[in-house]
Amino acid sequence: MTSMAAEQGTVAETFDSLNPATDDVVGTYPMHTPEDVRAAISRARDAAVWWDALGYAGRGERLRRWKGVLTRRMDELAEVVRAETGKPLGDAQLEAVLAIEHIDWAARNARRVLGRKHRAPGLLLSNNDATVEYQPYGVVGIIGPWNYPVYTPLGSVTYALAAGNAVVFKPSEYTPGVGRWLVEAFAEVVPEHPVLQLITGFGETGDALVRGGVDKIAFTGSAATGKKIMAAAAERLTPVLIEGGGKDPILVDADADVDAAADATVWGAFANAGQTCVGIERAYVHEQVYDEYLARVLEKTKQVRGGADSRAQYGPMTMRSQIEVIRKHIADALARGGRALTGGMEAIGDRCVQPTVLVEVPEDSSAVREETFGPTVTVAKVRDMDEAVAKANDSSYGLGSTVFSRSRGTEIARKLRTGATAINAPLSFAGIASLPFGGLGDSGFGRIHGPEGLREFARPKAIARQRFPAPIPLTSFTRTEKTEQLVSKVMSYLHGRK
Ligand code: NAD
Repeated sequence: MTSMAAEQGTVAETFDSLNPATDDVVGTYPMHTPEDVRAAISRARDAAVWWDALGYAGRGERLRRWKGVLTRRMDELAEVVRAETGKPLGDAQLEAVLAIEHIDWAARNARRVLGRKHRAPGLLLSNNDATVEYQPYGVVGIIGPWNYPVYTPLGSVTYALAAGNAVVFKPSEYTPGVGRWLVEAFAEVVPEHPVLQLITGFGETGDALVRGGVDKIAFTGSAATGKKIMAAAAERLTPVLIEGGGKDPILVDADADVDAAADATVWGAFANAGQTCVGIERAYVHEQVYDEYLARVLEKTKQVRGGADSRAQYGPMTMRSQIEVIRKHIADALARGGRALTGGMEAIGDRCVQPTVLVEVPEDSSAVREETFGPTVTVAKVRDMDEAVAKANDSSYGLGSTVFSRSRGTEIARKLRTGATAINAPLSFAGIASLPFGGLGDSGFGRIHGPEGLREFARPKAIARQRFPAPIPLTSFTRTEKTEQLVSKVMSYLHGRK
């Protein structure tokens, strides 16, 4: 995948980005070295000062212009996404639409969420004016995955920029062209300073970014890489946000709209060839509706096909090596008594995997426990929703979940050990810009999107300003025994009563 090419008079190592449907070379990019990365971080330092000084209004105006460029040139962006990931243009457009909504939200809400606010100083220090404001970290390093190369990294990039940081962004080595497109579009509206910079390369380049002296790292990718990043960041106590993988469940209650639940399952499991962090990989279905649900899932699955042509509902696997993981999970499920009602081992092609519905799969098999990241779903019958919740929660991951229930949706959702739950629609939380997005366990920690996403990229700064001398001076060597007795009385009155 690598080759040597002359670049600006020096010989730099490069790598090719390939179209997963054809293996055609889509573009060639530099493999940035630790030295390159440090230089980018150093440029970002100055840019961060300038960007922060623009204030909320100035940054908001630039972000809105960036949003305008993305909206007007969405078709062009969708083509770049399709070329590097293989996904249908409609899916590429959908992720751009969601990203645009997030830019708009972050630009409009940054001041309200992060701006200076008064806090009650309390009785003893009532002579103070207490305020808190959220200041930018400075330079944020952002490392992205390939599966949603617009929506996913922009969930961090947008919020980090709106909070006043400069960003050094390393997209996945599978989608550097999408990363470059986004960064160039930003430079059109912010030409003065390199506020958003691109670095390209593999894991080593990402590692150099983590160790390069940035003020925060935001990572989206697999749990395994997240653990390495956290360990590397520990060297400098660099704070990290980890958006890891998932093994998301759907729970279908006895009173659910079964047809809608089946539709949500088929889309949630197979869209984007299952390469969705919050894709549905497991279904737990009440025994009263299990047969009907399964029949509808199979009926709807017949309409879905993966392929490289424009009529296919999803494309080839973006990362060829994932096909082996899918093969292993299906083989393990079948070897241990599971059955494929559609798909199965024959569904696995050279580039594409066809939809696979597995039933009677033991709960401890890899198809149920590990992230498959392919167009497969396991379906299990449960006695009631308590059993469904227990099984759904028995996972090392905890990213998203979906519940279908007419009467108990919220009650069930609140019991699920995941960062977000969608009720009666698949993945809806991911499209609502005001809601935080993130997980727990192997799905990581920290949040993007919404107010929590803005605060993730800013430090709370507390300021206590004395307005007049304290009536009872406590923090001075002039303090007397009389003062101490007075304090004691005041405290007994305030807090010591039975
Ligand atoms: P990955 O972990 O292989 O790579 C992610 C990024 O990390 C890439 O840019 C890669 O170059 C970089 N990287 C690799 N090794 C590194 C290292 N040692 N130090 C620093 N950077 C390093 O993941 P992927 O295959 O690109 O993405 C798929 C995974 O991402 C899936 O597990 C999916 O669930 C997850 N994902 C999570 C979310 C979320 O929001 N939680 C969103 C999308 C994808």
